[in-house]
Amino acid sequence: MSCREQIISEITNKRDLCQTISPEMKGKPIAQIFGMNSFNDAAMKKYLPKKTHEALKKIIKEGGGRVEPALAEEVAQGLKKWAISRGATHFTHWFHPMTGLTAEKHDSFLNVSKEGKIIERFSGSNLIQGEPDASSFPSGGLRSTFEARGYTAWDPTSPAFLVEGVNGTTLCIPCLFLSYTGEALDKKTPLLRSMDRLSEVAVKILHLFGNKTIHRVYTTVGPEQEYFLIDKAYYNRRPDLIITGRTLFGAKPPKGQEMEDHYFGSIKERILAFMHDSELEMFKLGIPVKTRHNEVAPAQFEIAPLFEDSNVATDHNQVVMETMKKIANRHDLVLLLHEKPFLGINGSGKHNNWSMADSEGNNLLEPGKTPHENLQFLTFLIATMKAVYKYSDLLRATVATAGNDHRLGANEAPPAIISIFLGEQLTKILDNLEKHKKSSYSDKAIIDLGISKLPMISRDNSDRNRTSPFAFTGNKFEFRAVGSSHSIAMANYTLNVIVADILNVLYKEIEKNIKTEKDFNKAVLKAIIPLITETKPIRFEGNNYDPAWEKEAKKRGLPNKKTTPESLKDLISRKNIAAFTKLNVLSEVEIRSIYTILVEQYIKVTNIEAETALTMAKTLVASAAIKYQNVLAKSVKNLSSVNGIDDKVLKKESEVVSMYSKLVVELFEKTEKLDAVLEKREVIHDEDKKAEFYCKEIIPLMYSLRETVDMLEEYTGDDYWPLPKYREMLFVY
Ligand code: ADP
Ligand code: MG
Repeated sequence: MSCREQIISEITNKRDLCQTISPEMKGKPIAQIFGMNSFNDAAMKKYLPKKTHEALKKIIKEGGGRVEPALAEEVAQGLKKWAISRGATHFTHWFHPMTGLTAEKHDSFLNVSKEGKIIERFSGSNLIQGEPDASSFPSGGLRSTFEARGYTAWDPTSPAFLVEGVNGTTLCIPCLFLSYTGEALDKKTPLLRSMDRLSEVAVKILHLFGNKTIHRVYTTVGPEQEYFLIDKAYYNRRPDLIITGRTLFGAKPPKGQEMEDHYFGSIKERILAFMHDSELEMFKLGIPVKTRHNEVAPAQFEIAPLFEDSNVATDHNQVVMETMKKIANRHDLVLLLHEKPFLGINGSGKHNNWSMADSEGNNLLEPGKTPHENLQFLTFLIATMKAVYKYSDLLRATVATAGNDHRLGANEAPPAIISIFLGEQLTKILDNLEKHKKSSYSDKAIIDLGISKLPMISRDNSDRNRTSPFAFTGNKFEFRAVGSSHSIAMANYTLNVIVADILNVLYKEIEKNIKTEKDFNKAVLKAIIPLITETKPIRFEGNNYDPAWEKEAKKRGLPNKKTTPESLKDLISRKNIAAFTKLNVLSEVEIRSIYTILVEQYIKVTNIEAETALTMAKTLVASAAIKYQNVLAKSVKNLSSVNGIDDKVLKKESEVVSMYSKLVVELFEKTEKLDAVLEKREVIHDEDKKAEFYCKEIIPLMYSLRETVDMLEEYTGDDYWPLPKYREMLFVY
């Protein structure tokens, strides 16, 4: 039996649908289990003295801040009691280093008392601060410039949670990760800073609008997460999937996603078992996962939570990815989060739904019921548009990674050009407003302009354009360019920063206008209407996949950075550095270090891919190809010794051998070429140039090698091909 036959028979005989949920948990009402593994408000109430609980709640509401040692001590005692009562033996500070993954270093509660007795201990200082060895995390040069060590600092705004392993439970404490001189070494620190900055200016604007009781504005996020699931047996036989997360070779299957039968079909039982299992874990962790469905590509799926504030949503998305990976394994499945695991098949992204809500729970991107509310809605809407217009290059750079390049630059959802989709209704309203820019901005004008009764923008209407990278969908914007494996932190802190930047300008403008205009509405309109005109180039309602859009976008002056090395440079442009530094969200040193890390990561990822492709081509593919070539050649030889064989038969067979041999030669030549060119990396010392080298020289050679390998796959006898095929991985599970 060939290796692939063996896998398929294994899978076919796998009838056990991994009944991993214990009988007592099965079918339990969500309300009963939700948050049982999260130190949420209910747990705090139960385990903390009332005063402590109140004080902590206040800190959380205000988006964080200094926690006094005495308070930390009391919280630590409550937290420890709760965690131990739920079976925890260990705790860890849990944080987001620049790698995009999360990091942990576990300690047990074990301690020895003065009397020499074994006790369980967890103190305020254990809670507030930890010291992982920072030298193993990337710092983009920050560490050498400043301090050798970094420390983790408790983030009280994101609830601590318990991770249940098969044999034990660990208390995870969400943290920031900083250098001793205070530079951010993680993705969460700038996120929290950005939320504060946006809040400060948004509150000031709301006060201008007369909403004086608002004390904070939260940014809200609901990330829709796409992923693939394939059987573990395939995965384990694909070195490319194991090492790089995507297939470096693989011929197109005869059927892809064109029938749409997967998208509209019912969820297969085995997948559903996985979904129930992983969702149960997430409910326990207090992650409000809501929606699950099949996605466009075969074996592709999506999970979406209810939205939360950006900080918690970011932590939760990270936990969602980790939990799904873990649970998939229990089901003999592997979760693929790569942006493009299968060439020619729809890739995976994350739709980052983003909005702002005030401290009374009002969504600032929700059209209101009165002219006044509508004007406020338009102010925040237009500010966001201006932010995306002014900083579209920066926004693009926040999602620039080697993996996402295969998706964004490849004329697939969405393109590398950032544009905004508003929908018909809003477009009309803005056009109307713009036309009246010269008329007096009186109260009456507001009524004439039709904004006195803005229709609730119906979601069905606004959500049609699935190709737009930045779409208004009724009461939020949806940034769809984020990669499926990315942490959403950077996209979100950047969004917060750029919107806060524009809101600051608008606030000053409105304040100035109030002095001369007396009429408040007039003062606001005078500030926002010019922005409608100014931001017109970024508005696009058409099909973003249409090649004509690329030309049109170019005419409009919109950036179109297809590759990571090209796009990342925008992170460190004067304008974009200023956006971060002005608001003290990142210092110039911090941005430059992020840039260095991202470039480094691009180089590493691409180099690993090239090395993996080479090894596979030289060993797995070459071995199969030579064996099969031999079979073909022997067949011709044997045939020619058959008496009276038709010349036509011999000729045809010889042609096949000759064609196949040409492919084999090509395989060797292309392997040699890639190998030789890759050597050049040793003499390129500048990191920017190195990234460019991988982008412009190595990736095209990898694609070219792939072409030959995929042709060989198509012509090699099925039982000789060693790698699981697309048609198997995507359809047989
Ligand atoms: P669709 O799949 O059609 O885009 P969904 O109803 O599934 O729409 O919503 C997508 C995501 O948007 C969900 O995670 C949802 O919680 C989130 N969302 C809804 N309202 C907001 C909001 N005000 N701020 C942030 N995210 C939101
Ligand atoms: Mg969506």
